[in-house]
Amino acid sequence: MYRLFVNGSLGSNYKMKITKKVSYGFSLSFVVLLLSACLLDGNLRWNNVIASEPNDTALKLHRRSVYTMGSLLNISIYSESDDRAERAMEKAFNEVDRLDWLMSNYKNDSELSRINREATDRPVACNGELISIIEESIRFSNITRGGFDITVSPLVKLWGFYGNADGDITGNVPSEDELKKIIPSVSYKNIKIDVLDSDNWSDRTIFFKNRKTQIDLGAIGKGYAVDKAAEVLKKAGITSGLINFAGNIYAFGSPPGRKDWVIGLKDPTNSDNIKGAFRIKERAVATSGDYERFFIIDNKKYAHIIDPRTGMPVRSMLSVTIVSEDATTADALSTGVFVLGPIDGIELIESLDGVEGILIFEDRNGNVVENMSTGFKALLEKS
Ligand code: ADP
Ligand code: MG
Repeated sequence: MYRLFVNGSLGSNYKMKITKKVSYGFSLSFVVLLLSACLLDGNLRWNNVIASEPNDTALKLHRRSVYTMGSLLNISIYSESDDRAERAMEKAFNEVDRLDWLMSNYKNDSELSRINREATDRPVACNGELISIIEESIRFSNITRGGFDITVSPLVKLWGFYGNADGDITGNVPSEDELKKIIPSVSYKNIKIDVLDSDNWSDRTIFFKNRKTQIDLGAIGKGYAVDKAAEVLKKAGITSGLINFAGNIYAFGSPPGRKDWVIGLKDPTNSDNIKGAFRIKERAVATSGDYERFFIIDNKKYAHIIDPRTGMPVRSMLSVTIVSEDATTADALSTGVFVLGPIDGIELIESLDGVEGILIFEDRNGNVVENMSTGFKALLEKS
């Protein structure tokens, strides 16, 4: 079943599994470790999400979770009506399933898998929504100067991060020669999108200029799915809720009797520690961490976020948490800033309206250091 994952964030407890000199890691379960941000609010603890449930309100907390896109999707909403809450959640889960069939590169019959097979040969017509997600991804590539790049797929494969049939990372350190051969295929500039019919903007084709180019939406897909699920919930009449998709969070309205939602920032070096807390409302939070998916060979740790420009997994960055207005932006930028590193990363965050963030990394001496944007500091101080 693990082959079905969109981005391979495994839900089961895959701790270090050692074969010869290679060890594969999915550190702890995703709710504990993949979630660098957790909620702290009131008195109801649920998978790191603590939500308030005051007695003096007719609003009841409804929570459900499903396993989809290879990750756990939690939805918590406040509603007076059980019926409305159930119906809304059902619609939101269906929406995420729909998106999985669009964006998965683990499902052979998804739209993205078809594009990955056919667009290397010729320009092919592509589902309009998928084209828009790809265009949005290219926009994030431009913003991060190539740090975020959905054409990273051949590198993810070469380094063995997609895993075998059982979902285990196969972990492989490629030779320089192997890397050199693959790197030209990895560039968002290899994606060519054309309009077939000038009267119908949605009628577009996609073509990969390099025969080895492949797309992986693992660093943006969950964020996009969170935004779409939130849209569905709001349309179904839900005014207060929180979606948490393996660390991609969107919170709207507020818990009854409170002004906003409180998010705890996890310590990437110790999952039991909370480094601080901040309040959000109508905001998204996403975290990318080096502990989420990695393998160790010869005592060297190789984590799943790869610098598309060098072909190498990013080192020394422990986690990046981004707060923004929508979950697509938070997801893409948490990965992109992870690649850019502490200096360029913060500079980028500071240059963007409505985006704040914190980067936790190891300096040259092995000390754990935090860099945060001025707005993020203010968020922490206010809470
Ligand atoms: P996760 O979704 O696992 O919480 P991310 O959002 O940071 O974490 O996405 C990481 C995934 O995105 C990787 O597993 C890989 O499939 C893909 N990826 C790796 N490096 C990059 C990159 N530089 N740009 C875009 N996608 C990447
Ligand atoms: Mg991401």
